[in-house]
Amino acid sequence: MIPTMIRKTFSVPPLGCNCSIIGDPVTKQAIVVDPGGAHERILREVQQLGLTVTHILHTHAHFDHFLASGEMKKATGATICLHRDDLELWKNLEMQCQMFGVAYVPVPLPEYWIKDEEKLLVGQISAIAIHTPGHTPGSMSFHFPSDNMVVAGDTLFRGSIGRTDLWGGDFDTIERSIRERLYSLDDATTVVTGHGPETEIGVEKESNQFFRL
Ligand SMILES: [Zn+2]
Ligand SMILES: [Zn+2]
Repeated sequence: MIPTMIRKTFSVPPLGCNCSIIGDPVTKQAIVVDPGGAHERILREVQQLGLTVTHILHTHAHFDHFLASGEMKKATGATICLHRDDLELWKNLEMQCQMFGVAYVPVPLPEYWIKDEEKLLVGQISAIAIHTPGHTPGSMSFHFPSDNMVVAGDTLFRGSIGRTDLWGGDFDTIERSIRERLYSLDDATTVVTGHGPETEIGVEKESNQFFRL
């Protein structure tokens, strides 16, 4: 498949969450998914790619995925987006940082609530938001049908799944999200995971340690 969009994914501190910059080559508009704690690196990459960030999307509100979102907003004016079910976690950023021994940086509240099955536009590229709770109540995946790719956050990893023992996590719920929502995507769909290497839906259906079809 010929890629129709610009994408750069790289891991960012403090816990190696995968941040993705996704842009439309025509309009040069872009979104950043999960800035983690690395606004300077992300802003440099965005500039090198010649893109303008309009939205900052979050797969969920664990601190290591959104510590830099305030700085990103300050630098770009982009809209901070989250599923409303993770608002409590977002508000508890300071507590999360304390628990993991990471320096706290205040981040403003989200300005836009992403809904299940909502179509999000990045210039001419569209993403479908999929509510995939379980790792957290408001965990989201973002499916880009034109490029056969899904950004799954900490819901699905290569060979594994996200932990469900943190605030609001639930094992039965993550199982339903993965089996009913993610495994219904095309087998050849690339999965950009929240940490570690990418995978494919078909590969996970066959060999995931937790849930196979
Ligand atoms: Zn997480
Ligand atoms: Zn994570």
